[in-house]
Amino acid sequence: ANPIFANLPTTIFEEMSGLARELGAVNLGQGFPDDPGPEAIRQKAADAVLNGYNQYPPMVGLPELRQAVAGHYARTQGLELDWGSEVTVTSGATEALASAFFALIEPGDEVIVFQPVYDAYLPLIRRAGGAPRLVRLEPPHWRFTRAMLEAAFTPRTRYVVLNNPINPAGVVLPEEDLALLAEFCVAHDVVAICDEVWEQVVFGQARHRPLMAFPGMRERTVKVGSAGKMFGLTGWKVGFLMAAPKLSHALARAHQFLTFTTPPNLQAAVAWGLANSEAWFRDMPRALERSRDRLGEGLRREGFSVLPTQGTYFLNVDLKASGVDMADRDFALHAVKTAGVASIPVSALYEEEPVTSILRLCFSKRDETLDAGIERLAKAR
Ligand code: PMP
Ligand code: GLN
Repeated sequence: ANPIFANLPTTIFEEMSGLARELGAVNLGQGFPDDPGPEAIRQKAADAVLNGYNQYPPMVGLPELRQAVAGHYARTQGLELDWGSEVTVTSGATEALASAFFALIEPGDEVIVFQPVYDAYLPLIRRAGGAPRLVRLEPPHWRFTRAMLEAAFTPRTRYVVLNNPINPAGVVLPEEDLALLAEFCVAHDVVAICDEVWEQVVFGQARHRPLMAFPGMRERTVKVGSAGKMFGLTGWKVGFLMAAPKLSHALARAHQFLTFTTPPNLQAAVAWGLANSEAWFRDMPRALERSRDRLGEGLRREGFSVLPTQGTYFLNVDLKASGVDMADRDFALHAVKTAGVASIPVSALYEEEPVTSILRLCFSKRDETLDAGIERLAKAR
């Protein structure tokens, strides 16, 4: 087997969800809601299954979904995307990222990646022949600086991969950081692959700004989105790739041989959802913000030190600052086995010099799930 994949452990998300299933634990690890998701959209999918949409759709996606995606980003982010030449539907953001890496990276290209890193990036980049260069972010602010970018960019840099809002950090990068990264991309003639799957899950005063909207970035950004995150339907795996026509054309060359297409019934339902979900996009973050605060306040009452979260489903606990004398992975295994609560040790998302004191907890859960999680984490410490 190819060692790039064969030498990897099972992803931490599956490892922890597997333990949670096996042990009947409360699962605050892998990021998914325990609510079933918007009923009207699920009804549209059911209707589409029963009424026709079940054969291969067009390779780049149903026109109605590509139009809806362009309309959504025009309304919410001021992006003007031509649905016919700049939007490709993929089987989740994961396939979107794989298509981008396989389509664009040439052997030996340097690819800048920030760690903690969403765990699919590095193996896929390496399998595509790329040479990752890691930029290490750390709590509590998880931000990069000009000096860090100066050290990372070289004459061989061809791509930078940015996840914003950042999973697992829960940070929504401010405008000035994005402007700085854009400045480097333009100066070094680099293409940004921007994983913005959490763009709708942003709280309070924080504002998500797409990297594509910064000066010089429109033609050199591949933007990745996911309906799974937009609608809390994480198992649906309907994703989007947005890029200028030349890039989109190249991306489709990889997409056509990875999955070729995505279930048309789900595409139809997502198209309907994007055009009819103004209230959902307003109310969903507010409900999640309440859940974030319930989990955060409950944990603080139990003596845990909680880091701020501006976006995503995730809140981080600083174990060391909480007086827990265990590395994150040891604590996560201890907590799931002895107290029945699953979490994600953030060290699993670093490749080099891991930060080992941060535990990621998912708060997109019902109150009773959060309360049980708090009680069990308190028992584990
Ligand atoms: N990127 C990031 C940062 C994510 O958090 C996730 C899902 N948790 C994905 C990509 C994958 O999204 P999808 O399920 O649409 O493949
Ligand atoms: N993105 C989800 C998370 O961060 C996990 C998705 C997966 O398990 N691949 O929890």
